[in-house]
Amino acid sequence: MNAFLDGLLRLLYPPKCVFCHRLLEDGEPPVCSRCEKALPRTENAGRQRFPYVSVCVAPLYYEDRVRDSLRRFKFANRREYAWSYGPMVAACIREAELAFDCLSWVPLSRKRLRKRGYDQCFLLAQAVGRALDCAPEPLLRKVRHTPPQSRTGAAEKRRANVLDAYEACSPEAVTGRRVLLLDDIVTTGSTLSECARVLRTAGAKDVICAAVARRRD
Ligand SMILES: [Zn+2]
Repeated sequence: MNAFLDGLLRLLYPPKCVFCHRLLEDGEPPVCSRCEKALPRTENAGRQRFPYVSVCVAPLYYEDRVRDSLRRFKFANRREYAWSYGPMVAACIREAELAFDCLSWVPLSRKRLRKRGYDQCFLLAQAVGRALDCAPEPLLRKVRHTPPQSRTGAAEKRRANVLDAYEACSPEAVTGRRVLLLDDIVTTGSTLSECARVLRTAGAKDVICAAVARRRD
């Protein structure tokens, strides 16, 4: 982008820290220096395992200002937050030295996409993809609309809620490949686990996952 347009955009939409709303100064990274110190960061890339998922990483815990920020990203149209989260997730993937052949995301149902107007995990996949130099590919579609996992309650119910809710767009696209699947928040891992099951059934060689934030054990 040329410098004039860039300057104009900064004037019209001054960049703010996605975690605390503080105005950022020129050249300051997308996460302000105060949040940089105070964010609830995971150790060891926040590694977890779930059925069908070899490893799942996340740079942050889903609490405090991280939770508030992700809620705005999901429910209050703050689409641009993806560009602040993306580099953090990408750094976490690099730190964990994950090997993958292609990048995809956990899709919304058509009904929720219509209602929300954007698929936040697709935006996240674009931002992470830009940082990792790997364009996201649509590998899954949601074929059954389900109540939000956040309102579904116990782990058992969450698993039942997402069973058979996803299908592979085309098995040829995943056969023999190691898929990196992105989600925004990991709670019980039921959604990622079900998506990974579908991808492996379609022929994926491996499925690894990454998210912005995870629940603390
Ligand atoms: Zn901040």
